[in-house]
Amino acid sequence: MTINWQQEVESRKDDLLNDLIELLKVKSEREDDKITADAPFGPGPRDALLHMLAYGERDGFIVKNVDNYAGHIEYGEGDEILGIFGHMDVVPAGDGWDTDPYVPVIKDNKIYARGSSDDKGPSMAAYYGLKIIKELGLPVSKKIRFVVGSDEESTWKDMDYYFEHEAMPDFGFAPDAEFPIINGEKGNVSIAPYFESTNGGTYELINFKAGLRPNMVPQDAIATIVTPSNEAANALKTAFDAYVKENPISGTADVDAANVNIKLIGKSAHGANPQSGINAATYLAVFLEDFDFAGGAKNFIATASHIHLDVYGEKLGAAHNDEKMGKLTMNAGLFEFIAGEEGAYINFNFRYPQGTDKETMAAAIEQSIGQYVTKLDVQEKHSGPHYVPMEDPLVSTLLAVYEEHTGEKGYEQIIGGGTYGRLLKRGVAFGAMFPGFTDTMHQANEFMSLDDLFRAAVIYADAIYRLAK
Ligand SMILES: [Zn+2]
Repeated sequence: MTINWQQEVESRKDDLLNDLIELLKVKSEREDDKITADAPFGPGPRDALLHMLAYGERDGFIVKNVDNYAGHIEYGEGDEILGIFGHMDVVPAGDGWDTDPYVPVIKDNKIYARGSSDDKGPSMAAYYGLKIIKELGLPVSKKIRFVVGSDEESTWKDMDYYFEHEAMPDFGFAPDAEFPIINGEKGNVSIAPYFESTNGGTYELINFKAGLRPNMVPQDAIATIVTPSNEAANALKTAFDAYVKENPISGTADVDAANVNIKLIGKSAHGANPQSGINAATYLAVFLEDFDFAGGAKNFIATASHIHLDVYGEKLGAAHNDEKMGKLTMNAGLFEFIAGEEGAYINFNFRYPQGTDKETMAAAIEQSIGQYVTKLDVQEKHSGPHYVPMEDPLVSTLLAVYEEHTGEKGYEQIIGGGTYGRLLKRGVAFGAMFPGFTDTMHQANEFMSLDDLFRAAVIYADAIYRLAK
């Protein structure tokens, strides 16, 4: 039997889009201060999870909610389980949007909203792939589970909890990255230097804050500085205005007697691709380094300035390159200094290939900036490098489907972003972004092209069927 997947998607376009729009309206940012027993990551991620599972129920699937941590939508029977992993949580919207990030807008055949490309759009495309298989009553010999997570962007505790209660699928993919395929993912670990929160120079740093998440390039950085005099404050402002003009940033310095409040704006990007962003914090540190700070403030500024543009961890001595998996990358995603309050720190998030490990990186960082810091906090629980070879039938089948539907040659890719694909030994990421796409994940004005959304649904339907039949 030949199935016209394209036509099947075509006849469900409006439904798919309407379902996606409703899902995008749910503001599913993790909120730690609103966590309750029935909302383990806050109400937003829970509501989006329930929303997705409700689609499964509406469409007649077997649906299971695992205590609002995660859930699955199931079809078919068999000894083996094929897992498809999407996530309903989103990173914070942040500033700089032209439209409301939670009121989806369709413009130029693109849908704009937080989560449109990461990961509600791709998840919905994969769900419709499964829905088509069910509606056509196609015979499958495996159990297919569309596993829905709600804390992918933060701790992955949704999946820890899910796998404490449910079987691990034997193989599968996450529609949460790019085509043709992502069959390798770098290791992911955060290492955070801590600083004394003291001053002592003629200039004092009252606070310095930047960043929303370890896995986002900080778009905004703010600092409050006490200068020795009103004249010094004005001079600092003049210098800052000139600095902004010379660099790919914007910002303001507001003088209040001898105090100056600075806001510097760079550009956010996914922390796995720090080279695509402009780190507001390190630009601010480079500017401040010319002034007479002392104590912990000086060390904090010196460290932040030391790693300016150091996206490959070279200045930290942690750089590593692997022939297959590529270069280590580093995103300095969080900065916090509050004078007199303990716990001033910077968070370095590393994506690393095989051939290095967190101990080696930590030792190098100690060498590089040890003189400035009180301690280095190395993330305990982390994920190492992951790779599924091209010969694995999972990889070869997915690439064959991709090639048939696009007419393009498939090839392997390794990325720095950890997707749920790595949860399984035989797990990969597959779509939904096509080669040449504009990457807006984790950025302001995130969008997904509608053509890509529907093309992805066609590919997912065929791929799920071929893997499960
Ligand atoms: Zn994602």
